[in-house]
Amino acid sequence: MQQLLAGYATFRSKVFAQHSRHFAELAHGQEPEALFITCSDSRVMPEMITQCAPGQLLCCRNAGNLVPPPEETSSGVGATVEYAVRMLRVPNIIVCGHSDCGEMRALLDEGQLQDMCFLRAWLGHAGPMSRAFRGVMQDPRVWPVEERLHVLTELNVIAQLQSLRAHPTVARGLGRGSLHIHGWVYDIASGEVRSLDPATGSFRPLLLQPSEVETSVEEPMVA
Ligand SMILES: [Zn+2]
Repeated sequence: MQQLLAGYATFRSKVFAQHSRHFAELAHGQEPEALFITCSDSRVMPEMITQCAPGQLLCCRNAGNLVPPPEETSSGVGATVEYAVRMLRVPNIIVCGHSDCGEMRALLDEGQLQDMCFLRAWLGHAGPMSRAFRGVMQDPRVWPVEERLHVLTELNVIAQLQSLRAHPTVARGLGRGSLHIHGWVYDIASGEVRSLDPATGSFRPLLLQPSEVETSVEEPMVA
């Protein structure tokens, strides 16, 4: 806890002081460029990966970066999606999975979920998890576990995008062309993001060379 308090002290004395004008502007509203749905994993930091400042990214995080279907009207994810699209008119939604995801790993060995009723129920939204597919993914003879984890992580992002498309606000935005959705997978070890190519259904590096995009990002807000 001491580290968190020391960090807060640094934020107040240095970071906030240095960017106080930006925070004063933000006090009256937000206009984020994207809704970023990702896992709660502590190693995945959306604002760091995208070098976004406060106000630029609306994050919705949960175990396994899941998007429950629209029938689940009390879902916090559904409420955030609706708020982001209807009220804030975000032009982009990103669903981002990641390497070494504990929730995806648990799906490969459901014995881990035996005494975890909340997580087990929540992961019912992970996909694709038909009985047949589940059997294949949990069979150690099919592929080594790390390969199965990799495949499941990508397929889960694709399944969550499908669920997202079924939400009425998203469907309307996509139909009008005012909203775009993206599937990403972030690799913790390399820092690389691979993005779903809807034409082929495969994931490719988001950027072939980071230098292909002009780096005009302002200095990040770190002490
Ligand atoms: Zn995760």
